[in-house]
Amino acid sequence: MFLEELNIVKHQGKQFIKDLTEVVLPDTFRGIPIISNEEVAVKEIIDFCPVDAIDFRNNKLSIDLGKCSFCGDCQHQFSSKIKFTNHYKMATNKRADLIIEQGDKTGIKLDVSAIRKEIRNIFKRSLKLRQVCAGGDNSNELELGACGNVNFDMGRYGIEFTASPRHSDGIVLTGPITKNMAEALEIAYLAIPEPKILILAGTDAISGGIFAESVAVKRDFLEKYPIDLYVPGNPIHPLTFINGVLELTRKKFRR
Ligand code: SF4
Repeated sequence: MFLEELNIVKHQGKQFIKDLTEVVLPDTFRGIPIISNEEVAVKEIIDFCPVDAIDFRNNKLSIDLGKCSFCGDCQHQFSSKIKFTNHYKMATNKRADLIIEQGDKTGIKLDVSAIRKEIRNIFKRSLKLRQVCAGGDNSNELELGACGNVNFDMGRYGIEFTASPRHSDGIVLTGPITKNMAEALEIAYLAIPEPKILILAGTDAISGGIFAESVAVKRDFLEKYPIDLYVPGNPIHPLTFINGVLELTRKKFRR
């Protein structure tokens, strides 16, 4: 019996990903897009996006990854103009940096000068987070749960989710913030001792996504408190989240 189990373990091999910063995802993953200089009918491509993520400014086409639902339809329809790459390191601390412009090939990076000093100093070895789902659809919540599974094992860096905001160092918000969750979200945030981190995970949290104009959404919470990290994706990928949090809190992971 014991030998049988050993054989199963040997057959399965090592389950965990050794280095979470160097993983190469398949080409089918939709990460940071590249927008070529190919001539296209601008209005047609802007009107094509169902969530108004595509825009034309400074004579360049752009995609706002804070609004994008990563459906991939624009890539299929305008394949010579838009191509999503497998680059998953797209979390940043500046909302404007989620807008990818035509010709951009530099990727997305955190602005180190904008990271609050107390975050740099206090959370570099351990970070406990409380997840608040404010009207989310469970997709981002599932991926956040996956961050702690045997593959990604975020706990190896001392980063974990806690059951109570009073035991945590920050909030990871998912969902567009529905009216009936707005107060609960604020109560949870205020229960966390200072200094605290606020992370927005997924398109719905960042911009409201397809619910942005809904009367059932109330997002003034985001105007009151500092946002430390935007993690784009719909849903987010665990590697995007983990690398983003590591870059925010630990010097040696910054690119
Ligand atoms: S992938 Fe994003 S930008 Fe393209 S059509 Fe879908 S939502 Fe719009």
